[in-house]
Amino acid sequence: METTSVMTPDVDDERWMRAALALAERAAALGEVPVGAVVVRDGEVIGEGWNQPISGQDPTAHAEIMALRDAARRVGNYRLVDADLYVTIEPCTMCAGAIVHARIRRVVFGASEPKAGALVSRQSLLDEPWLNHRVSWTGGVLAEHCSERISAFFRARREERRRQRQLQAPSSEGGGGLG
Ligand SMILES: [Zn+2]
Repeated sequence: METTSVMTPDVDDERWMRAALALAERAAALGEVPVGAVVVRDGEVIGEGWNQPISGQDPTAHAEIMALRDAARRVGNYRLVDADLYVTIEPCTMCAGAIVHARIRRVVFGASEPKAGALVSRQSLLDEPWLNHRVSWTGGVLAEHCSERISAFFRARREERRRQRQLQAPSSEGGGGLG
């Protein structure tokens, strides 16, 4: 008797997207825009990353780049053949480029990024015919969760800034003795 386990891609995609969402919380804890990413191969996470350019003083420290670096280090190879990358937000141009360099097989993202997304929103970078490596991609997995996480972050930050301004207001109205 043959036993085959057919996993529906959607269930798997959501599972790994939840793992990426969990990593986004680490970015949030650093005060960074909460984006998380995992690299998966053979049903296993081989790389984890979260957004940290400010705290890491590194303009390239996007979640995808950090996950690719982690995976390459762990497997001892700069090419991640047959590996898939899951990220909570549509990748930017830099990350799309790195994904091609790493030979990622497939990218799955959550919410699209209208301002800077390089897969569908602003460009279709991974579909360019001149690329020497094809990356397939899927968008919109747990999109609402992913975009809500980002929105909540910016809401909280606006609220924090408003509070800061209110704290500063009384002293500026207070007579200006030290003008
Ligand atoms: Zn990026």
